[in-house]
Amino acid sequence: MGKQFPLIPEKVKKIETKYRKIVTDIPVPESLPILEKLRRYEPISMTGQPPIIWDRAVGINVYDKYGNMWLDFSSGVLVANAGHGNEYVINEIKKIIEKPLLHNYCFPSEIRAELVEKIASLSPEPLKKVFLLTTGAETIECAIKLARTYGKKRNRKIIITFEGAFHGRTLGAQSVGGIPELKEWIVNPDPDIIVMPFPGDPRCKDRSFDLFLKILAERKIEGKDVCAVISETYQGGNASFMPVEYAKSLREWCDKNGVILIFDEVQAGFGRTGTFWGFQHYGIIPDLFCLGKGISSSLPISAVVGREDIMNQYQPGTMTSTHTGNPVCCASALGSIKYIEENRLWENAERMGRVFERELNKLKKYELVGFVCGKGLVWGLHIVKPKTEQPDSDKAFEIVKKCYEKGLLLFAPVGYKGATIKINPPLIINEEAIVEGCSVIEESIKELI
Ligand code: PLP
Repeated sequence: MGKQFPLIPEKVKKIETKYRKIVTDIPVPESLPILEKLRRYEPISMTGQPPIIWDRAVGINVYDKYGNMWLDFSSGVLVANAGHGNEYVINEIKKIIEKPLLHNYCFPSEIRAELVEKIASLSPEPLKKVFLLTTGAETIECAIKLARTYGKKRNRKIIITFEGAFHGRTLGAQSVGGIPELKEWIVNPDPDIIVMPFPGDPRCKDRSFDLFLKILAERKIEGKDVCAVISETYQGGNASFMPVEYAKSLREWCDKNGVILIFDEVQAGFGRTGTFWGFQHYGIIPDLFCLGKGISSSLPISAVVGREDIMNQYQPGTMTSTHTGNPVCCASALGSIKYIEENRLWENAERMGRVFERELNKLKKYELVGFVCGKGLVWGLHIVKPKTEQPDSDKAFEIVKKCYEKGLLLFAPVGYKGATIKINPPLIINEEAIVEGCSVIEESIKELI
């Protein structure tokens, strides 16, 4: 984990197709002063992505100002669900900017009322309260706070989470994360956070809910001690889902024991997985869920949605944030949600997901492709050392590098040992672009073996 792509321009093959255009060396020599300025003034942590300079992003493409165009399989980390620079989103933003109304703190605004009503109308009963925030990690912090507050009144404090989970980079979010390397900085880990094996992980041998019960029994934890269980709807690290039976048993267990079930839908919401909400795949409803990323296809806004008795625990003025429901961000979310709804983009995600399934599974013939996971428009291609199950983050990194040199944009590998290439284009993508993008991945793999 933690590699930088080199800033040494390489002569690469010129490319011009409907979806990709590469006409310069990569990285572009003229762009180096900008890249170097970023490296000089920003922390090194900001240097992990391919060194191409975004100038414009429209639909499924990202452009620099030097004449290159990339086919985007990243959605800028799963944000641009409705496509980059979506016209509905831009129009809604323009209307509010032109008033102008750029900020109103928690004072009421009509646009915030419209957005919370819209999200509530899309959420299943009894999840009808919506609290707007700014980032995904903040929603997790808020969900932890609500669950712990609810639990405290009932003398419970344990939170159960899963190995491999990623919920953001703030203290609470990382405390309920399941990636040990990311938690090393936490000098006083919370002893009441229990990490269970994630049953959806392709390497997990025992996928039954019995394992969950067995681990609780071994640790002498009873249901009455637990305040909440939190899980990503699918694990972002490699796009793996819980077995449906497991999710149903978990819901039943939570109901029986009065435990709050929290789904982190920050990646999974707004059509990404082929259903409007990711948890619809399980046929269950959580008590709280967290939203972010694709909510606006653009500006930073997020939300916690949940049951009234959990959401209403804080008195007027005591659960707020300075930028709660910023009007410009609300406008972007309304535009994006309306576009996704009117165009039923989750249906396209479902159809195009079948194309990815077909194309990516073909890549399994290469020994360095360990497993392929996903649904809808989120997929993970796990790269291993040939004939082993050992993750190969260097090869994964090289594949991503070759791809952007060929005009296909992916973000740096993630997941177990940083060896999973995530593939998650905007939900407006078509079959032709998917087939072309997958052929670029194949070409890159072939060049590396
Ligand atoms: N939850 C999930 C599932 C995520 O994938 C992320 C970010 O990648 C977060 C939470 C944190 O969101 P943010 O980066 O907006 O804080």
